[in-house]
Amino acid sequence: MKTLMHICCAPCSVYCIESLRAEGIEPVGFWYNPTIHPYTEYRSRRDCLRDYAQQVNLTLIEQDEYGLRDFVRRVADHIEGRCADCYAIRLEQTAVYAAAHGYDSFTTTLLVSPYQKHELIRQIGERLAEQYGIQFLYRDFRVGFREGQEKAREAGLYMQKYCGCIFSEEDRYIRNRPLKKPPVQINPKPVNPKKLARMEKAAANAAARAEHERLATGEEPEKL
Ligand code: SF4
Repeated sequence: MKTLMHICCAPCSVYCIESLRAEGIEPVGFWYNPTIHPYTEYRSRRDCLRDYAQQVNLTLIEQDEYGLRDFVRRVADHIEGRCADCYAIRLEQTAVYAAAHGYDSFTTTLLVSPYQKHELIRQIGERLAEQYGIQFLYRDFRVGFREGQEKAREAGLYMQKYCGCIFSEEDRYIRNRPLKKPPVQINPKPVNPKKLARMEKAAANAAARAEHERLATGEEPEKL
């Protein structure tokens, strides 16, 4: 069976690739994740997958598209329900590519994470399969999540700290803390007089050395 596998990141792909190969299916990887932000994070995950695909001899198709603005516009009025849009964006492009390029089926590594909305991913995958006339290869990869993550760590893969979108980054780092705080005044700390004297002495020494070198070489003083 010719299967196109949407890959959200290298660590999540570890178990999915291994388990499909154990079934005799050689997947082709598909990178399409415009919902990962900010760009530096997007690039880290993409580049890690590029390297990992080489390591495990996986053919990878990259549709490189960073989509912060489009995604934020799309979910702005229902931020808490954004995951359905996020799955649909990524899986629809996978289904479209697979249908247009002669694949029998498509699947996604999103099915490996116990933190994702697994049933929702399945429903969206099956709806898209019907829409584009191609099979959604459903597997409950969650059984291998821990194993895959351990192998990813051992292999030194880049391990992300949050799901992907800019909102999930906020949830990860400032959940349970007030987002709006009253202004506070932060005064400079008093400088330790001994430390100040040392800094002044070091500056004076540096200036004396520079002057000495200038006189020795006959250079004109720098005009500022
Ligand atoms: S939390 Fe994760 S699945 Fe949900 S919208 Fe953000 S990146 Fe997508």
